Amino acid sequence: MQLYTKILLGLVLGAVVGFIANVAGLTWLQSFLIALEPLGDAFIRAITMIVVPLVVASLMVGTASLGDLAKLGRIGGKTIAFYMCTTAVAVTIGLIVSNLIRPGARIDGATRDALSAQFEGEAEGALSLAEEAPSVIDTLLSIIPRNPVQAAADLELLPLIFFTIVFAAAVSVIAPKRRDAVITFFEGVNDASMVVIDWIMKTAPYAVFALIAAVVARFGLDLLQSLLIYSLVVVAGLLIHLFFTYGLAVRFLAKLNFFTFLKRISNAPLVAFSTSSSNATLPVTMETAEEELGISKPVSSFVLPLGATINMDGTALYQAVAVMFIAQIYGIDIGITEQLVVVLTATLASIGAAGVPSAGIITLIIVLNAVGLGAQVQAGIALILGVDRILDMIRTSVNVTGDLTAASVVARSEGEDLSFRSPGDGKGGMGFETQVEDSAVGAPS
Ligand code: ASP
Repeated sequence: MQLYTKILLGLVLGAVVGFIANVAGLTWLQSFLIALEPLGDAFIRAITMIVVPLVVASLMVGTASLGDLAKLGRIGGKTIAFYMCTTAVAVTIGLIVSNLIRPGARIDGATRDALSAQFEGEAEGALSLAEEAPSVIDTLLSIIPRNPVQAAADLELLPLIFFTIVFAAAVSVIAPKRRDAVITFFEGVNDASMVVIDWIMKTAPYAVFALIAAVVARFGLDLLQSLLIYSLVVVAGLLIHLFFTYGLAVRFLAKLNFFTFLKRISNAPLVAFSTSSSNATLPVTMETAEEELGISKPVSSFVLPLGATINMDGTALYQAVAVMFIAQIYGIDIGITEQLVVVLTATLASIGAAGVPSAGIITLIIVLNAVGLGAQVQAGIALILGVDRILDMIRTSVNVTGDLTAASVVARSEGEDLSFRSPGDGKGGMGFETQVEDSAVGAPS
């Protein structure tokens, strides 16, 4: 059985068991499933553990072996342009669906106040986190790390990417003998990281079961009922973005069959769905790009870590729907000018959001304030917090799919011959068995 089929099975089983425990009110089963959650957390920790070595080694090899720094600049320009454009399209889709369906107009005042009251405390917590957010200038400055080891320790990907690119560019211009030694070393680190990912991924189906079962067992189903239309609008927007924006980009820019593409990359969105974290999924995303889509290291090592940090189309779209929902529920009119402000601020807020669970609801506060909903922030956040975990899972899958779409488009624009690898051709083919070159492990040289 292919790995993605096993992960999907874990996910569906987890959802079904959690649902039964929840609906039938089997508190013992609920407690048991919640007690299993640390197994899932162990998986998240293990896969996150490999992010730093993988990103550094892969970016080092990708950049230093390019031998052409102008190409790096070109890849960077295209990547950022693609990320910005697709995010703006995502926000626009979010605005269109919420204007058409008006989910906030369908909730009465009593339900609204009851929901707000229920999550008041948590909303206060989110607000205080948002208050700690640094200014735009500080955020830009923080891209230059004072200490790259500190950046690595704090899993701050943007400064780590910055340092690694500068360092790798320097490596590419030193004496060939020394340069080759550094590149060979990092090739070894990269290959070993891939092997670790293979090992961790063997446990993914069980971890996914534990994570999903706990979320569903704990989830308040009555909440879903009152926030059903809102949740469906978010999901509908995300599906439109997936099939329309990514579908067209993959078909016409990357020139690949979109459904085969989705099947090939499915490990990444499945892990994203279960972990709600683009950062934790990054090792899987990088391995998928290289092994399933045949994307070169210079492209994947740059586009994907950057994407995990700054490209969050799903988050931006969700923020657009959330703002409109909160405005509608409080009877506040959001005109076309404010909607343009939403496009701008939600795009920027999604760049600022870290690739970790619930980051999007914290940066949502920036968007709410920007359109003049400052007075409704706390109650508004409390209102939608109950279904945030579920929506986070779905939007994170879209975020990760967006990163892989961008990597395919950029790779193709650089003239790469993207081909779907078949299982058993020595390139992984959904099985994720990394082939390690002799020089990397084992072989005494
Ligand atoms: N969990 C999302 C991610 O990691 C961010 C968010 O929307 O909260 O991509």
